[in-house]
Amino acid sequence: MDVAWIPGDADAVVVAVVAVVALAGAGWAIARRSGRGAPPPAVIESHTIVETPVSAAPADIVDHPEATSGRFSRLRGRLGATLAGVLHRGAMSASDYDALEEALLLADVGASATDAILAGVKSRLGANFDLEPTQALREALLEAIDPAADRSLALGQAGQGQAKSVIVVGVNGVGKTTTVGKLARVLVADGYSVMLGAADTFRAAAADQLETWGARVGVPVERSERDGADPASVAFAAAERAVGDSADVLLIDTAGRLQNKQGLMDELGKIVRVVGKVSPRAEVLLVLDATTGQNGLAQARVFAEATDVTGIVLTKLDGSAKGGIVVAVQRELGVPVKFVGLGEGADDLAPFEPVAFVDSLLGTA
Ligand code: GDP
Ligand code: GDP
Ligand code: MG
Repeated sequence: MDVAWIPGDADAVVVAVVAVVALAGAGWAIARRSGRGAPPPAVIESHTIVETPVSAAPADIVDHPEATSGRFSRLRGRLGATLAGVLHRGAMSASDYDALEEALLLADVGASATDAILAGVKSRLGANFDLEPTQALREALLEAIDPAADRSLALGQAGQGQAKSVIVVGVNGVGKTTTVGKLARVLVADGYSVMLGAADTFRAAAADQLETWGARVGVPVERSERDGADPASVAFAAAERAVGDSADVLLIDTAGRLQNKQGLMDELGKIVRVVGKVSPRAEVLLVLDATTGQNGLAQARVFAEATDVTGIVLTKLDGSAKGGIVVAVQRELGVPVKFVGLGEGADDLAPFEPVAFVDSLLGTA
């Protein structure tokens, strides 16, 4: 088995933090004993640091991730997209409809959804002369986003130890690894026991990045010591370990690059297949970068052909003027946006809330 845990850069960080903790602890103990606040000599302490094995450290440094509910409300002010001020009060003229159409297209809502939303606005205003245009647009947008869709992850209750898998896919740079790390925090906050699998084996740095995320919330990471190890075998080992440890959830990070598209899709199919041998599949989440707009849609189509995508994570919605991609991508894939990334902070990932999203777009909240 070529999968093992080895020290990497992340451990240097852990050692450094352990060292600081050790220093502070020793200083505190000495100060208590001597009854004085003077710090101990640095040289003596640095020996202690070097000789302290990492494994002898107290439990890993554990963050307390922020509660999941309320995250979207906290973050939605960062949405870059806006439709506020596009419509005015009173009757809509033909040029008002043109302005709305242009604004929807600029926000990357996409041509077909834009048509549907315009038709929705027209029919609502035609049926109710008292309705304000902004309210008609609010309803039409909500209809297009489908507030009734199930956006939860199919994980069941926490504490059942069923090792359900969540496989995270998407092209290079969209934010997959970051999303796996943030999602681990969401699940820890919700009481799930989590394991991570580093199936992006192109570079050790990807696994190191995941270990850093995991260590902060006390979540173990299954990884390979070799660059270029078979990703499916790492994923399989992670699944076996998650089952053996009765973890509730296994999150698997994957690579987004290969020499060619077919190779990437074959690899993802294989990962999904081998993990499914031992771990019940809960989700395949496709990560898309909101700033890539229509390009992201083209990617989405390719991934949807290769695997049964069950949910979308839209990252980098902070500052992106293309928030309408939420509507376009759901329409394209027929799969709901489940989470959105609204920043680079560890807890800047939120369950997607359609009503709050639309109200933020329109400035009606
Ligand atoms: P991967 O190649 O798909 O694994 O992408 P990474 O997870 O390594 O992320 C690529 C970059 O995108 C990193 O610099 C992340 O901090 C950044 N990123 C990810 N999600 C978000 C987000 O929601 N907002 C912003 N502003 N940056 C993000
Ligand atoms: P294929 O190459 O498409 O036939 O996919 P495999 O079924 O061979 O699985 C790919 C990798 O996952 C293998 O190289 C193994 O590392 C791992 N794997 C899959 N199934 C098993 C299994 O039943 N036992 C073990 N030990 N490893 C497995
Ligand atoms: Mg990555």
